[in-house]
This record gives sequence, C-alpha cells and structure tokens, in this order.
Amino acid sequence: MSAPTEAHRSLESAERPAPAHPSAPSDRLTPFEGVNYQFDRAARKLKLPEPTQVALKTPYREVMVELPLHRDDGSYRTYHGYRIQHDNSRGPMKGGLRYHPRVSVDEVRALASLMTWKTAVVDIPFGGAKGGIDCDPAELTPKELEYLTRELVARIHMLIGENEDIPAPDVNTNPQVMAWIVDEYAKFRGYTPGVVTGKPIPLGGSEGRLSATGRGVAIVTERATAEMGRSLRDARVAIQGFGNVGSWAARSLAALGARIVAVSDVNGGIFAGDGLDMDRLVRHVEATRTVAGFDGAEDITNDQLFALDVDVLVPAALENAIHEANARDVRARLVVEGANAPVTPAADLRLEENGVTIVPDILANAGGVTVSYFEWVQNTQRFRWSAERVDEELVRTMTRAYDGVRATSREHRTSLRVAAFILAIQRVAEATRLRGG
Ligand code: NAD
Repeated sequence: MSAPTEAHRSLESAERPAPAHPSAPSDRLTPFEGVNYQFDRAARKLKLPEPTQVALKTPYREVMVELPLHRDDGSYRTYHGYRIQHDNSRGPMKGGLRYHPRVSVDEVRALASLMTWKTAVVDIPFGGAKGGIDCDPAELTPKELEYLTRELVARIHMLIGENEDIPAPDVNTNPQVMAWIVDEYAKFRGYTPGVVTGKPIPLGGSEGRLSATGRGVAIVTERATAEMGRSLRDARVAIQGFGNVGSWAARSLAALGARIVAVSDVNGGIFAGDGLDMDRLVRHVEATRTVAGFDGAEDITNDQLFALDVDVLVPAALENAIHEANARDVRARLVVEGANAPVTPAADLRLEENGVTIVPDILANAGGVTVSYFEWVQNTQRFRWSAERVDEELVRTMTRAYDGVRATSREHRTSLRVAAFILAIQRVAEATRLRGG
C-alpha cells in the first residue's frame, strides 16, 4: 500500500451521511457511556423501541468481591475483584479478566457489553462478560498474583462455568493465570477445562489461541486495504502496545508483507522507516520486557507514533488512546482497533469527518474470542484441532464477519462501527425475542 493520495477515499467517504447522533460526544463520557453512545447510534438506525434498548444495554449480573492480601513483605492490602455478566441470550457469557490498577465497575461494565456485541458480530454462540482485579501485577510477586487469582475464583466459582460464563486472558493476564483458574475451580466444581479459555496447551488450550487476536487484526486489515484498492505488501504500519495483541498483530502483518515502522509500549516507542526486524524485536522484548532501547531504531513517544505518516495505525494497548486532542494528528487512512475502545466517541467522529476508515474493536479484535470458542468446542468434545484447522476456521469466521459488516455499512450508508453494532444488536435482539425476553 502506498502513501495516501488525493485520489484515495476511505471506505465510507463516498456514502457518508450526516452523523447518526445529533449531539457531539465529548471525552468526558465514562467507558460504559462511550459504548452505549455507539449502541444508540445503531439503535436509532434500527428504530429499536426504547424499552428494548434499555433491556439490551442493562447488564445481566454484576459482582464485586473483596480480595484481602497479606503481602510477602508483611504489609496488608485489600483489592477488588469484578465479574460483570452482560448478556446470555445467545449462549454462555464470555470475556477476559484484566489485572490493572485502573480496573473499575464502569470499565468492566463497558468491556462486558463490548463482548456481547463482539460475539454477535462474529456470530459465535456466546454472550458477553468481563472481569478483573484492580491490582498492578508489576508490583506483585508471582505467588501473590496466584493467591489473588485463586481467591477470586473461590468467591465467584458459583457464577462461572463452561455453560454459564467462561473467562479468558486480557491485559496483564496470560495462560498461567488461566491454569491457576482451572486448578482452583476444580476444587469446587470438578476438573472442567472448558471453564476458561486461553489455557496452556497441556491443560486443554488450543493451538493458535495466543496469536489469535493479532492474527485476526491482520486478516481484517488485509481485507480492508484490499477494498481500498491497495495491497498490504509494503504498507507502512504503526502499532501502539506490544503485548499479546500488538506483538502478534505486528508479526502477522509482517508475515503478510507489511512494513512495521513503529511500535510502542508503556515505556515509549521506537521507529525505523525501513521497517523493524520482527524476530530480533521479539527477542529484545523477551530479554528486556520492553520495546524501548531496541538497537537500530529511533526512540519516539506514544503521541509521536499516532502522528506518523503511515498507511495503517493499530492502537493495541488500552482505552481512549486516540481522543479529541490527538485525533486531528492522525495521518493514517486506516485505523484498525486492536484494543477495546481505543478511540473515544469524540475522536471517532473527528476521524470519520477526516475520511479515516476505522475497523472497530468489536470486529477487528474478535479473533481472540473466536479461537477461544474453538478452544471451548475442543474442550467440550474432548478433541484436539491442528494449528492449520484453527487458522482456516479463523480466516473463514473473520472474513465472513468483515463482509457482513461491510454489507451492512453499505445498506445503512454508515460507518463500519455503526454497521457492526447494527448487525450485533439485530442478532442479540432476535435471540432475546425468541427466548421470550
Ligand atoms: P497485554 O497486557 O498483553 O499488553 C498491553 C500492552 O499495552 C503492553 O505492551 C503495554 O506496555 C502496553 N501499554 C499499556 N499502557 C500503555 C500506555 N499508556 N501507552 C502505551 N502502551 C501501553 O494486553 P493485551 O492482551 O495485548 O490487550 C491489549 C488490548 O487488546 C486491550 O484493550 C484488551 O482488552 C484488548 N484485547 C485483548 C485480547 C486478547 O486476546 N488478549 C482480545 C481482544 C481484545
């Protein structure tokens, strides 16, 4: 893909109507208000009755538990654990566990509702949930993290289960954390590997799960660039966040021929105009836990990364990375949301006005939950799939979802984000109605 030209048009620009929401949003919306702002735009297009809208937006169940910890250094501290189950009309609820000091009821509620819409967009038989602990894993020893994880399970095991609610990794959680959950859950309810996904492979994890979210980002990026009349080969890509999603998106995009010119993490960013050597970078991060200080690249800040002259920008860190103040600096013509809610509603409108195409989170990062579904299928059938089969099914699911969203965006003359919400809301509303809700 070459540099943006005058002739370049975003996917929606030829057919962009007036914004569906009459009042402009601001960055002061809470995370849950932000998700519901996008829901409302789609619901208005669908002319959904108000009581149905309220029912669909309201979480099914919200739980907060106290997690006291006697630390190894002798101090004592109380953390909060959350599990918010948003909707189960299409199947067991599904969503990650996040360990981060900023975890709050409102954030978890927002992420749980995004999971409802995400599972519906890719049309897998799950609802939405999310959870977390308001801790900073960087300050805790592995033993303390294991203790908090087991305590959380001890206090919510009666609410989760392979047919009820299935956690998975999210920010700062990983296959080891999922392994502790399997073990602790077994003490209360018997050995049930399908109670979580993203497990280590010896405990029933799936081939391809670790890379799935990033691989899914690459699949939809390739699809979107092709539709814009370009090729991914030599497209210049910048990625914010180099954890599970960012690093695998980088590797998968590089494998498709893209040039990853910049990446960043919480410690800062790096830039190399000719493209970063992915294998060497991954080894550097394994050794130092950060992209900073990578030999042969220039140091940049996260803000500089967003303003780079690139073809594709992938925010893959946390929420609200692109906001009212920095949206105008974005030069990429395609933004693919690896993270959940990385673009605020206000920034979303500004980017849309500037002709930037955004592949929204509930589509772009759905590869992870899709392979989680494959993992759950393998667990419940006591059967293992090959890596090739997982990847084939992932490509099929993501491509079908992208094409469905694209067709809906044409039909309703709207952005990919509003179209994804339209598709998801229709599916959840239909399931709710059929079940008598
Ligand atoms: P992770 O913990 O593996 O990585 C997070 C990355 O973001 C790290 O590189 C970290 O340094 C970086 N980061 C954190 N704060 C930052 C900041 N202020 N500025 C720049 N970089 C920062 O987490 P992950 O699993 O890769 O998740 C990233 C995002 O993707 C989250 O929004 C998550 O909800 C979403 N997501 C994850 C999955 C999954 O399968 N893991 C699936 C779907 C969506």
